[in-house]
Amino acid sequence: MNVIIFGPPGAGKGTQSDFIVSRYNLFKLSTGDLLRKEINKKSLLGIKITSIVNSGSLVSDDIMNNLIESVISNKDYKNRIIFDGYPRNLSQAQNLNKLLLKYNQKINLVLRLKVSLDIIKKRITGRVICSKCGKIYNKHFNLPPINSNCCHEDVLKKRDDDNMDVAIKRYETYEKSTEPVLDFYRKMDLIKDINGEDEINTIYSKINEYLAAIEA
Ligand code: AMP
Repeated sequence: MNVIIFGPPGAGKGTQSDFIVSRYNLFKLSTGDLLRKEINKKSLLGIKITSIVNSGSLVSDDIMNNLIESVISNKDYKNRIIFDGYPRNLSQAQNLNKLLLKYNQKINLVLRLKVSLDIIKKRITGRVICSKCGKIYNKHFNLPPINSNCCHEDVLKKRDDDNMDVAIKRYETYEKSTEPVLDFYRKMDLIKDINGEDEINTIYSKINEYLAAIEA
């Protein structure tokens, strides 16, 4: 199955998709992670997009489309992709449809996490990521384990775009550009709404129900 996980920045898409990836053996295509890798590598693409990503604006559709085609065309990931952070506007949704058709695949489900701006602000300012294993934690809601061999205080990093002003900008960008995307998938009857303000485990159980129904 191919799944889209949808929701504003800080909604818990990364955390939930990591659970889904291990439970259903999917491949996570996080466009934000791919872009941050390019930025950290200081590749040509990375240098070009650093200020765009750090200000909370969207990278051009052309760049994004090339990036995702390289994953969709890979036979190892056929029909086992969870899209996190893509599509973010109508043209990306249309492009995704075309690419999936070209590689003989489709989207089976769109999971939409709904979270208010107030909660997003708390989550984003508390979010830290382990620079060794990539696990995501939150200083308010989801503390890193105390005796972990990996995720020590000194390797937990904040993302450059995780500050209050950029968080608000990214939320507004999300609200503006994603309504047409939701409409697009509503017409295909693929959207399942989930209360993203629930506990992490409650959200995961709900998601699990929907995914298990597809597999059945
Ligand atoms: P995320 O990790 O999904 O919050 O993405 C971080 C940043 O990467 C966004 O604020 C954008 O600047 C950029 N980005 C990620 N995905 C996309 C996309 N599908 N289209 C355009 N820009 C994106």
